[in-house]
Amino acid sequence: MKRNWLDKKIVILGLSKSGIAAAKYLCKQGAECTISDSKEATEADLKVIDELQGMGISVEMGQHKTETIEDAYLIVTSPGIPPTADVYTVARDNHVQVISEMELAYLETYKPFIAITGTNGKTTTTTLISEILSNGDLCAPACGNIGIPATSLLDEDLDYFIAEISSFQIATSKTFKPQIACYLNYTPDHIYWHGSEEAYRATKESLFLPPHAPVWGVFNACDEVVMSAAAKSPSDKWYFGREMSRQCCYIKDDCIMFKNVKGEESPLINIHEINIFGEHNYQNIMASVIVAKIVGVDDEVIRKTLREFKAPPHRLEFVAKIDGKSYYNDSKATNVDSAVRALEAFNYQSITLIAGGRDKGASLAPFVDAVKKYVNNVVLIGEAADYFEEELKKGGYTSIKKANSMEEAIDLASQLGDEVVLLSPACASFDMFNSFEHRGDVFRNYVLQKLQKS
Ligand code: ADP
Repeated sequence: MKRNWLDKKIVILGLSKSGIAAAKYLCKQGAECTISDSKEATEADLKVIDELQGMGISVEMGQHKTETIEDAYLIVTSPGIPPTADVYTVARDNHVQVISEMELAYLETYKPFIAITGTNGKTTTTTLISEILSNGDLCAPACGNIGIPATSLLDEDLDYFIAEISSFQIATSKTFKPQIACYLNYTPDHIYWHGSEEAYRATKESLFLPPHAPVWGVFNACDEVVMSAAAKSPSDKWYFGREMSRQCCYIKDDCIMFKNVKGEESPLINIHEINIFGEHNYQNIMASVIVAKIVGVDDEVIRKTLREFKAPPHRLEFVAKIDGKSYYNDSKATNVDSAVRALEAFNYQSITLIAGGRDKGASLAPFVDAVKKYVNNVVLIGEAADYFEEELKKGGYTSIKKANSMEEAIDLASQLGDEVVLLSPACASFDMFNSFEHRGDVFRNYVLQKLQKS
């Protein structure tokens, strides 16, 4: 039975995509909604605020007023607000329940959720699962952290919600229980938001433990942290990346193999028939295959989708070949592990790497090792350029250049003699760009300009 929201005072924290979607949904159900955001309204916000007010949604900007929080029946929060924020203390002191926008969607529907989490690969895997299931005639749109709020889909007649779940969303969900959940991998990230690495790890793990534990858990058998979560999880477990006696997906002789619950093995597709490349992407594919098999999608549909699937933009995205050099945009590599995975994917072609931006505080040691192993030349940009140079030099690596802009970095890289120019920054983008998408767009557009001139 759906909740009755009529005249309930709901406060939505954050004038974000998910906050706006939650407010619009609740307002339609008759709730009295206020969106509260601690930042001042920008020019662009004013238009949105106008539209929301026209619908009867109140908006308070520049602060979360204590009276607003005290008076709330329920608070729906946005992923951007860290758990240490004062507003949560006010809510706790006044016994006001706080839930995530994802949990609100979960509570408002009986349709099953397939959740995808992990430090890296979530968007790629979420998109791929959604495409396989959709090609199998199911209505299974991607949502969540990928940029489509789950509450915006509540009025649609779906078979599944394919939900990309960040650690922030897990931390603010109390009852969310997906039918299937994938744990792709773990490396330290988002330490600032969670307060410590232990807290980040425990949050990820909690999705696989009661009360959240899915019916079916899909785990990366090559990742120790993921396997330690699997060992504690009561879910029915499936594994990818390594051959097990049953319920698994792995690669043998370049072929993706699937073993069912009885341990019967069958080949699915040769990896050379697939468009996306790199060990990490094969892991994303294997996780997606298991989900599709659990749901019951036909093998031919899975094969067809894998042959046609293209990585989402900014993830090892091929941009152009100019004068024999291939340019790749991997702007979404905002942490050390994803940049290392990108370098491993090029199978020892000679690489000029463009890296740097805003450092996230994790150890650079794996990055330095990978650069020494795979990279001929590094061009550093952004706030972290000096720090990256220092760490690389300490590791004995000296083929380093520095640039003041993306354009200058690309010009420098184009003059060096390598086969591949790869933007894979291992850093956040906010020192020079609005987002990783903005950074990747600047890279792509300048490379395409160069292509036109060539
Ligand atoms: P997320 O949504 O978790 O950030 P994406 O699919 O957007 O993941 O990929 C983010 C970055 O991580 C990209 O640079 C991509 O090349 C890299 N990546 C993708 N899948 C994996 C994986 N399974 N393991 C490590 N890195 C990955």
